[in-house]
Amino acid sequence: MVKAEQVCKSFGALKVLKGITLEVDRGQVLCLVGPSGSGKSTFLRCINHLEQVNAGRLYVDGDLVGYREKNGKLYEMPPKAAAKQRRDIGMVFQHFNLFPHRTALENIVEAPTQVKGIKKADAVTRAKDLLDQVGLSEKANAYPAQLSGGQQQRVAIARALAMDPKLMLFDEPTSALDPELVGEVLSVMKNLAREGMTMVVVTHEMGFAREVADQLVFMDGGVVVESGKPRELLANPQHDRTKLFLSKLL
Ligand code: ATP
Ligand code: MG
Repeated sequence: MVKAEQVCKSFGALKVLKGITLEVDRGQVLCLVGPSGSGKSTFLRCINHLEQVNAGRLYVDGDLVGYREKNGKLYEMPPKAAAKQRRDIGMVFQHFNLFPHRTALENIVEAPTQVKGIKKADAVTRAKDLLDQVGLSEKANAYPAQLSGGQQQRVAIARALAMDPKLMLFDEPTSALDPELVGEVLSVMKNLAREGMTMVVVTHEMGFAREVADQLVFMDGGVVVESGKPRELLANPQHDRTKLFLSKLL
């Protein structure tokens, strides 16, 4: 579902991603960890068209992200085509970014009706199902300010799911939450994984990674230092940088 081959990304002279190679199969969960500034968010943003890869290749569901290939040469993709690719990818950020003047339900209905042209009534029915799925049926008419951080994040997840994405990206979805609210968001994510959603999750929640991830990737300085089954990597990290990072975390 996601395939990165030697993906590089620079901002001016600053090389942030220095050749990331990894693969996520359909229905799998990959957890990405690494120190601050290692390029985790940048990598997610490249998958989701928020940044353009400079070198290497990135594929989602077999399609090259952001470029078209002709006679072995790459051409930047027209914005419309990029937008179409992006529609199939859901992203959830650390800060939930809900529309403050819209209710939970309205937040979820927005994109399917505006972007996909789904009928309002159908979008509302689906939004109610999604609210139920994230345990918030009672909060359909609440505004973001009336919801806890954990509830807002669950609405944000429901909002992403409303576009029927084939891939979900999470960038530290629980880092901004009070500790007692982390569990409810992780539990929604766990259910999503169980239902077979393909997910790339940047998180420092090692319990989640151990239990849910098929693959754990440790990144540092814009490269993948090591990757493997979470239990094996956590129990027996091979590189000093991984050991150091994990020792600070656990
Ligand atoms: P954190 O754990 O703190 O979220 P991260 O691993 O997600 O870190 P990134 O946000 O990907 O790290 O940033 C990697 C590097 O790229 C940092 O040095 C950052 O300053 C730089 N960077 C990110 N976005 C931009 C940008 N738009 N312009 C210039 N530099 C950027
Ligand atoms: Mg980040």
